[in-house]
Amino acid sequence: MPFNSYKDIIEEGDLVLAYINRNHIKPIRVTKDEILNTRYGCFEHNEMIGMSYGEQMGGSRGYGYIYLLAFTPELWTVSLPHRTQIVYTHDSSYIIQRLNIVSGSRVIEAGTGSGSFSHAFSRTVGLDGRLFSYEFHEPRFIEAKAEFEDHGLVKNTFITHRDVCKDGFELQNIPQQFVKDSGIAADAIFLDLPSPWEAIPHLKAVASSTRRVGVCCFSPCMEQVVKTVTALNENGWVDVEMVEVAGRRWEARKEMLKDVNDVIKRLKDIQTRRNQGLELLKQSRASTPGEKREASSPESGEANPVKVQNTGMGFNPFGRGLRIKEGDEKFEWRDVTTIEPDIKTHTSYLTFAYLQPPPSARVSL
Ligand code: SAM
Repeated sequence: MPFNSYKDIIEEGDLVLAYINRNHIKPIRVTKDEILNTRYGCFEHNEMIGMSYGEQMGGSRGYGYIYLLAFTPELWTVSLPHRTQIVYTHDSSYIIQRLNIVSGSRVIEAGTGSGSFSHAFSRTVGLDGRLFSYEFHEPRFIEAKAEFEDHGLVKNTFITHRDVCKDGFELQNIPQQFVKDSGIAADAIFLDLPSPWEAIPHLKAVASSTRRVGVCCFSPCMEQVVKTVTALNENGWVDVEMVEVAGRRWEARKEMLKDVNDVIKRLKDIQTRRNQGLELLKQSRASTPGEKREASSPESGEANPVKVQNTGMGFNPFGRGLRIKEGDEKFEWRDVTTIEPDIKTHTSYLTFAYLQPPPSARVSL
């Protein structure tokens, strides 16, 4: 697996993520004599060989640059070709830690979709763990299978073309290295399906019978959550909890304190200026009939004789005219935090539950 080992230097055949800009990361397989053409320049694969991962590469025509990044599940999630909605890292990282998935864990996921989460699962369970992934849409299954082979996931990941709601999760003829206790014996299960409640009755047959098994169902609407919770309760799952991960960025900044007297002065100031403006308009119309829009005479070069009255404020704390630097000591400030708009994440409700083995079968970890 490219992300289960670490290397510094790019070699021919490596899967490299070419970081073009924030919104554009292009996965490339480094191949002799090929060229990556982008609107920011052309980048020869031959030059990439021998460079360090993370290094900046200049375009071969003397302009443009990219960064050559190592393949990680997080970067794959933001660069993969979308075949479906995907699980983003905010959710996948939370689910992995909450289900206590570690190196050596045995995990089931359905459906595979675009394989975004599969990569994160595969890296986490490592070479001693196993991932069983199910997809019922045949073209998606074929593409995901090819991708898993290309990315080296097949060492620990077994993908099956199956409708899990109808036919369950049990597998015949799985390769011997994937079998445990004569079956799947999953420690953790992730369901990203439109109707997880139809798959839940099939889970006991593939869950570990000696460990506490966790399940997470990923559903975008509350009606689905309600049906899922009912199915979990009916099928003996306990400790049911629903969580929503909302990805937000917090920004600390200062906000100017506004005194009510200043606000009143400011409103009066606006009113005064407005009245003066109206007066000015009236005068100019009266003095130059026919030239409605000219407040002063351009030929004479004279400024308008009507002066705007100084309000005596000396500054305009809330107006637009004067740019005030944040934290300017002439004013009073307080520290605040503001919420930035949501960052990219496919928000869904995460319903967690656990299946306890009978006390006689429990093994300590
Ligand atoms: N978690 C995936 C990812 O991160 O890329 C995305 C999963 S996508 C939202 C849901 C997938 O479930 C679809 O590809 C769909 O074809 C598949 N699916 C829906 N019902 C299924 C079923 N009964 N059995 C197997 N797969 C199913």
